[in-house]
Amino acid sequence: MEGNKRDSNSFNIKLNTHDNKIVEKIHNFISRNDIESIFDIHTHSWKRNHLIKKYEPPEEKIQPSMPATTTFFEYECEKHFEDAHVIFPETIKYKFASFGIPFNFYDVKENNIYILKKSQELGLIPFAVVKRDDTVDILNEYAKLFAGFKPYFALTSFDVENMKLKDYLTLSQMEVADSKELPIILHVHKNNFENLREIKRNCDNFQNLKIILAHMGLSFSYSEFRLVMKLVKENNNIFLDTSVCADPIIFRSCIKELGPGRLIYGSDNPFAFIFGKQQSLGLFFKWRLIPKKYRRNAWLLTERNYPWQINDLKNLIQGWTLKNWRNTMTYLILDQFNALIKAIDYCKEKKIMVKEDIKAIFFQNGKTIIGPKFV
Ligand SMILES: [Zn+2]
Repeated sequence: MEGNKRDSNSFNIKLNTHDNKIVEKIHNFISRNDIESIFDIHTHSWKRNHLIKKYEPPEEKIQPSMPATTTFFEYECEKHFEDAHVIFPETIKYKFASFGIPFNFYDVKENNIYILKKSQELGLIPFAVVKRDDTVDILNEYAKLFAGFKPYFALTSFDVENMKLKDYLTLSQMEVADSKELPIILHVHKNNFENLREIKRNCDNFQNLKIILAHMGLSFSYSEFRLVMKLVKENNNIFLDTSVCADPIIFRSCIKELGPGRLIYGSDNPFAFIFGKQQSLGLFFKWRLIPKKYRRNAWLLTERNYPWQINDLKNLIQGWTLKNWRNTMTYLILDQFNALIKAIDYCKEKKIMVKEDIKAIFFQNGKTIIGPKFV
């Protein structure tokens, strides 16, 4: 019954009672913090005809069900306005950065052209999806037209285990981004010391290079985020987007340790309209009491089965988790907002941040990083 209600293929958002409670909370949060504008730095848009071939899993272990091919057949730029206002009050001025879908079974170039055209029409901030074999000339051309770069590991391969950061974040991309002062939004293929240290090293080498780590640096647990914080702290040109993170402890630590200026609101829509639940052990506050080997464990469970679900601990407390959390599942964007509100309310109460800092997370921080191309 539930599945039919939220049929992801037709992609009509239908809020249930639990979802509506969160939406009410969001409206309340927006009004008591005088938030008038929201800028979302992380959204994807594409047309059906950008799909050039059927997704073929390169290896047996990788399951074929990618949401882009099985769920969202297309998601046009205009739809973001419509769907954002299911969650935000009508009075909110909503703006977003837009990029294509970064998979090699899509025509990246055509998708980029579409993004550019729609951005001019609708007043969006266009990011170019860039590939590892893009030459400096191509990148320079993109730099004239777009406001940022979006490289992605899956454009190379899905073999996360054997991948290196430089396989998809190339020297040419960084050189051009540095000289033209364009930010790079980066979904690191793996949250580990090696990758994060390399990002920091790149930012040390290129003075103007600004990197926005998507998904809070791919942190799903506090333990993973600690690693991110350590390196982000050492370079002021590394930022974090809030997308698909739903752990208040991560947001809270970010604001406390790095300052609210590093945090940029991002949703990862339309993927944040997937129904699920993200949870980590960090929520229990007694992080230090958790045995080390479980500290990095987190869940990202979705109502439909996707291969990128994280369910490390499923076997440990499977019964409890699945039975109880099924009722608390919601659209990932609502889950995320719930966590943001919790963290921000806490920091406000502790006088770690003021209203202006809060408003900046949802607008000014993103605007600042885009620079003069923010129109
Ligand atoms: Zn994304």
